[in-house]
Amino acid sequence: MTMEFTDRVTSVEPSATLAISALATELEADGADVVDLSVGEPDFPTPGNVVQAAKDAMDAGHTGYTTSKGILELREAIADKLAADGLEHTSDEVVVTPGAKQALYEVVSALIEDGDEVVLLDPAWVSYEAMVTMAGGSLSRVDLSPYDFRLEPALDDLADAVSDETDLLIVNSPSNPTGAVYSDAALDGVAELAVSHDVTVVSDEIYKEITYGVEPTSLGTFDGMAARTVTVNGFSKAYSMTGWRLGYFAGPEELVSQAGKLHSHSVSSAVNFVQHAGIEALENTDEAVEEMVAAFAERRDLVVDLLDDRGVDVAVPDGAFYMMLPVDGDDQAWCEGAIEDAHVATVPGSAFGTPGYARISYAASEERLKDGIERLAAEGYL
Ligand code: PMP
Ligand code: GLU
Repeated sequence: MTMEFTDRVTSVEPSATLAISALATELEADGADVVDLSVGEPDFPTPGNVVQAAKDAMDAGHTGYTTSKGILELREAIADKLAADGLEHTSDEVVVTPGAKQALYEVVSALIEDGDEVVLLDPAWVSYEAMVTMAGGSLSRVDLSPYDFRLEPALDDLADAVSDETDLLIVNSPSNPTGAVYSDAALDGVAELAVSHDVTVVSDEIYKEITYGVEPTSLGTFDGMAARTVTVNGFSKAYSMTGWRLGYFAGPEELVSQAGKLHSHSVSSAVNFVQHAGIEALENTDEAVEEMVAAFAERRDLVVDLLDDRGVDVAVPDGAFYMMLPVDGDDQAWCEGAIEDAHVATVPGSAFGTPGYARISYAASEERLKDGIERLAAEGYL
C-alpha cells in the first residue's frame, strides 16, 4: 500500500537545528568526539529548586490532566511576569503549552490559512517558515544581513514588505540565530507599520532573559500594540529546561479562545507537575539565571576574541547564545564539511533564510568552544 501524504507536510523539511544535533549525537555514538555547537540548548542543569518543585508536585499527586490552558497559579505567575515587562494580561489571556514551539504552532495555525501573507525578518529561526507553510501561508522575507542583523537600518525594507495584505509579522528579539536585540527605535518602527496596516504581530521573547548589558522592550508595550500582539515565551532557555517542554502564549482573549481550541484538541494541556515546577522557575531563580547569563556573556566574548584572532569578524550578539559566522562558498557544504572533517557541528545560515553563514551556539563550555574554534581553524574552515 502506498500512503499518500498531504502537501502540508511534504512541503516542509524536518527542523534543521534538531537534524544536525541528531547527526552529532549519531557520530558520537560511533565514537567520534563532536563539539556540538548546533542546537540551542543551555548546557547547565535545571536549577535544583525547580527540579525539587517537580518532585514535590509529583509526590503531592499532581499527575492528572490540568485545565487545558494550564493551572491557574502558573497562569497568574506568568501574568505577573508579563506585567513586570509592561504587558497587561489577565490569567485568562494566557495559554500554557508544552514548549514555546507548540505555542507558536497553535498561534500560527489559528491565524494563518491558505493565501495569507506573513512577514519574517531574516535570518529567522527555522520553524517559523515551516509553521507558516504548513498553515498554507506564504512568506515575505526582509533580509537584515546587510545591516549586521540590526533592524533599525532595515525599517525601510520592512516598510516595503508590509502592506494592507500582510496578515502576520513575526518578530524575535533577542534573535535566534543572530543574537541581535532590536532597539526601541526599531520596535517603534515595527509598531507604526503594524498599526498603520492593521497587522497582527507575534513577539517571540524566549531569549528575553538572556541579554548582555541591554534591556529588550516587549513589542506589545508600544502604542497601539496591546490589542494586536501575541507574546510567546518559554522556560527552555532562561531556566535551562529544554526537555521539560514548557512555554506559553498571551494575547487578546479572542485569540486565546480560538487557538485554545487547537490546544485542547491536540496536547490537552502541558504536563501537570512540570507546570508546578514552572511557578518555581518564575518566582525563585533570579540568582541561577544571573549566573547562567554571566557565563554566556563570558563565552560570547571568548568566541568573538578567538575568531578575531583568526581574522574573522562577526556581528557581536547582545543576547541569546548564538552568533552568525560568515563562511565562504556554500554554507550547507561548509557545515557538512565542518562536522565531517573537524567534528564541529554548526547550522547553515540557509536554514534561517540567510545563506553565507553558519550559526554557532555558544551554549557550551569554554573548553569545548576553544576546542571547536581550534579544530575549525586547523581544518582550514576559518
Ligand atoms: N522560539 C525560538 C526563537 C527558539 O529558538 C526556540 C528554541 N527551541 C523556540 C521558540 C522553542 O523553544 P521551546 O519549544 O523549547 O520552548
Ligand atoms: N531553538 C533551538 C535551536 O534553534 C532548539 C532546536 C529547535 O527547536 O529548533 O537550536
